[in-house]
Amino acid sequence: MINFGIAIHGGAGIVSKTKMTKWKAEAYSQALKRAYSVGFLTLKKGGSAVQAVKEAIIILEDCPLFNAGKGSVYTNHGDIEMDAAIMDGKNMMAGAVASVPFVKNPIVLAETVMKKSKHVLISGTKALEYAKEQGLVIKEKEYFEEEERYKQYKRAISRDKVTLDHDDDKFGTVGAVALDKKGNLSAGTSTGGMVNKKYGRIGDSPLIGIGTYANNQTCAISCTGHGEYFIRSVVAHEVSARILYKGQTLTQASKEVIMEELPGIGGRGGLIGIDKQGNIVMPFNTKGMYRGFKNSKEQEFVGIFS
Ligand code: ASP
Repeated sequence: MINFGIAIHGGAGIVSKTKMTKWKAEAYSQALKRAYSVGFLTLKKGGSAVQAVKEAIIILEDCPLFNAGKGSVYTNHGDIEMDAAIMDGKNMMAGAVASVPFVKNPIVLAETVMKKSKHVLISGTKALEYAKEQGLVIKEKEYFEEEERYKQYKRAISRDKVTLDHDDDKFGTVGAVALDKKGNLSAGTSTGGMVNKKYGRIGDSPLIGIGTYANNQTCAISCTGHGEYFIRSVVAHEVSARILYKGQTLTQASKEVIMEELPGIGGRGGLIGIDKQGNIVMPFNTKGMYRGFKNSKEQEFVGIFS
């Protein structure tokens, strides 16, 4: 039997069970289910891991509950600047965008960079120009603006804090990892970044080998959490390197990085990963992480808390 499967996340952080109403939990769970089901169907029909990852992320970017695409958090200047990346483990091709405004689906722009440009990472208003040139869907600012996000931004400003949107009981960054029937791995991540971020700050999500990484020899990883710490720990590649050079399993490698290495420098967050055998991991060192998966063994899961 050929193993294939997809795992997704909708952000890791502090979510208090008391503030999580039944209705809210249900809304998140439904959105997560919808996203992995779409990706899973693509894999089942023989589609590629890259396609499944992109499709799952589009669903989450279009859902205002998550801090990606529609529903992205505000920067210090009250703007929306999004980061996204996608990687194909088959040929080590990758595409990423940073601080890009107005593009409805940054993950589609990242895939376009990977497939059609000579570059890996492009940024800002020039990346927006490229998106227009390529005929991608562009939206007015109003499309991205959510009232809850605005209140969260005002709170962050008044405290002069750069926060993870999770610190406010609202999770957000989204990601997906997949293994297709041909044995190819892919990973993707998309985010609005951190609330009240300044000076064109870029997080870990669009950085290949940090927030996003896929290599057919090892695994596919998508991270979520306080980006500055993930960058310094080179998280996604660290997990892959442990598998390749230390002979660790995906479970061992990801657990050590998320539960020991990252907290060792004060970093909070989690990741989702899948290896070439189809094993799925979802470790996090926070109180919760929105997450889910479905695989060819008909195993299916959605979770928020640990
Ligand atoms: N890692 C993202 C960033 O630092 C935020 C998140 O995962 O919530 O931009």
